[in-house]
Amino acid sequence: MTVISSNLGYPRLGEHREWKHLLEHYWQHKLSDADFHAKSKALRLANLKKAQALGIDLIPVADNSDYDHVLDTLAAFGAIPTRFGHFDQALSLPEYYAIARGTKTAVAAEMTKWFNINYHYIVPEFDDVQFKLLDNRWLRYYQEAKTELGIEGKPVILGPVSFLKLGKRDGHYLTAADVEALLPQLLPLYQQVFEELAAAGATWVQLDEPALVKTTTSDELDPYRKALTTLHAAVPALKIELQTYFDSLDLYDEVVKLPVQALGLDLVHDHGENLAHLRTSGFPSDKILAAGIIDGHNIWASDLTQKLQLVTELKNLVAPDHLWLQPANSLLHVPITTANETKADPVLLGGLAFADQKLAELTALTTAANQGIAAVQAAFNLNQKNLEALNHSTHRNNAAVRTAEAQLPERTFERAAPFATRIKLQHDRLNLPLLPTTTIGSFPQSPTVRAKRAAWRKGNLSDADYQTFLKAETARWIDLQTKLGLDVLVHGEFERTDMVEYFGQKLTGFYATQNGWVQSYGSRAVRPPVIFGDVAYTKPITVAESVYAQSLTDKPVKGMLTAPLTIINWSFVRDDISKAQVQNQIALALRQEVQNLEKAGIKIIQVDEPALREGLPLKPRHWQAYLDEAVYSFKITTTGVANDTQIHTHMCYSNFGDIIDTIKALDADVISIETSRSHGEIIAAFEQTGYDKEIGLGVYDIHSPRVPSVNEIEANIQRGLRVIDARQFWINPDCGLKTRQESETLAALKNMVAARNAIQAQL
Ligand code: GLN
Ligand code: ZN
Repeated sequence: MTVISSNLGYPRLGEHREWKHLLEHYWQHKLSDADFHAKSKALRLANLKKAQALGIDLIPVADNSDYDHVLDTLAAFGAIPTRFGHFDQALSLPEYYAIARGTKTAVAAEMTKWFNINYHYIVPEFDDVQFKLLDNRWLRYYQEAKTELGIEGKPVILGPVSFLKLGKRDGHYLTAADVEALLPQLLPLYQQVFEELAAAGATWVQLDEPALVKTTTSDELDPYRKALTTLHAAVPALKIELQTYFDSLDLYDEVVKLPVQALGLDLVHDHGENLAHLRTSGFPSDKILAAGIIDGHNIWASDLTQKLQLVTELKNLVAPDHLWLQPANSLLHVPITTANETKADPVLLGGLAFADQKLAELTALTTAANQGIAAVQAAFNLNQKNLEALNHSTHRNNAAVRTAEAQLPERTFERAAPFATRIKLQHDRLNLPLLPTTTIGSFPQSPTVRAKRAAWRKGNLSDADYQTFLKAETARWIDLQTKLGLDVLVHGEFERTDMVEYFGQKLTGFYATQNGWVQSYGSRAVRPPVIFGDVAYTKPITVAESVYAQSLTDKPVKGMLTAPLTIINWSFVRDDISKAQVQNQIALALRQEVQNLEKAGIKIIQVDEPALREGLPLKPRHWQAYLDEAVYSFKITTTGVANDTQIHTHMCYSNFGDIIDTIKALDADVISIETSRSHGEIIAAFEQTGYDKEIGLGVYDIHSPRVPSVNEIEANIQRGLRVIDARQFWINPDCGLKTRQESETLAALKNMVAARNAIQAQL
């Protein structure tokens, strides 16, 4: 019996972010179109060769992109918003990038999160599109791999239903009726792509339908059924691998009957549900099970022995020769190779697997499944040894952390007094005016700030000189804030590149990778910290900065921390214990930081939780557990202070109608929320449910360089005052100002204070 290894997609970035540099050089006109194409081809082929060398049997092609795969799909099918022009042929590079990045006359297409992970795709706009196949890119890349490298590739195509569901019409995601109306126009184009692929000799196509994991009722399955039936009937020669990922299939029994030849299931992020379906309902003997057994989100080496047990079980569930082994989702979302992590502790390194190591795991498992474990015994032994070394290391066995964690169930985490009592004490102590003004924490990271940090990192600026610079910048901004007339000041966060990375550097258990880049959007890559060990508090994190800022002013300075869940959501988290456990370890550490800030005289402490909403699980039935854990860790962090210490939190999203109970449960004295882009929703949520604590509805949008006028801000405040009592209301921008320019920031804040003053005078 032959088991086959298959991949779903490979990272675009290049080991040293060559792809990012390629795009950016092109945008800066440092490269001709011809050079761009030649270089991207070289990178594409190098990636394919790597997969070949790593022994992958079925290699995906056309998974490469010049920006984003959803943009590729809409460009290929002519679904181009008309503000970018009308097209009869394949887009040129400038035309393609205009959609992603905007032009002087046309705003860029919107970008949003790809399901529940930190990748952002270009949102298609299906307003008045005339679908037309402008470019069969899948055929081009299929042929390229075949002629250049002799690879019989598996073209990856975003499926028609997910493609439609990811897009909007009239500013809203498509309804079932929209999908039904548009699908018949789109299907003939997919059919043409399939026909041309079949004519060129392609055997398989990987049709990604990630939206399928969100279907819960049989009629929601209709468009998928229709699309697959049409395509299979029209082009029977081309076999379809229907690929799902990021969660389980609720409609397993129906999906396995769809007319496809292989079904790709995620067996890692499925909460065990896909495997349960396989066990109870079995798997059709005429289909291939493409089993997603290797984690495509996280960066840990698999336990090969355990995985082989799973493979053995799966082999028995399917017909002979009907099993493929795959990552659970595209490897696009993990860094490329651990080979460049030259400075990592070897104990950690042995436990890491980035994309290349994951492909090697697949090959080892496939060999073991086909030839017996003896053929790859050495790899299995090394894997066992590495995992044991990491699990038994001191990093993962901090007795104090484990004891504190074990005691959690016996402790309660509530403020001493209820909000109504606390807020009176806080008002007495802080003595703020009605409608107090403040900001969210960061001030512009000017070129000077960035240059100084870079010099310090390279060792060209001493620690002392760097600290002196940071202090001077804080002092300058304390002065500016005072002149602006703000009521609650901040130190400005100049010492932080990133609100998670900074905390990772100061707590134990974190590893900052050297080259662990993953694509966030377009050419933008991030390097999430790796939480690999027990998280302990060994020294103050932010106390010195806050205390220094406070020493310069009589006005209260807000301490500024990142909450545990946000740290978790923007990191690669160890998987030998539960996420909730790691989150609570972080919370216990930050609780000490909060108490230390209080002890040092800081009267207001803000604990940011911007990633709360974006980390919501895909299926609503898993929401409550996630939200409960978020509330619990937030309360561990924030409840250890006196009643007259004021706890703030901040979240940067607006559609929170469905999690308003969670926001209330956090029991923060003050919350600031991004609202300027969508006042309506927030106000509606408050009208329905009310809110008794204090709140700052962001009164202007910091995401744009535009300086809002006094009138505009006044109008935003007035709208907020319709649902929130003036005594509860704070005035602030809707997020941190780190990416703005200083002049814009000063002008906007000046108008904000003027607007507040005008309204205050009328109250
Ligand atoms: N305090 C952070 C800042 O101002 C909050 C950032 C965020 O909400 N993403 O930058
Ligand atoms: Zn924010």
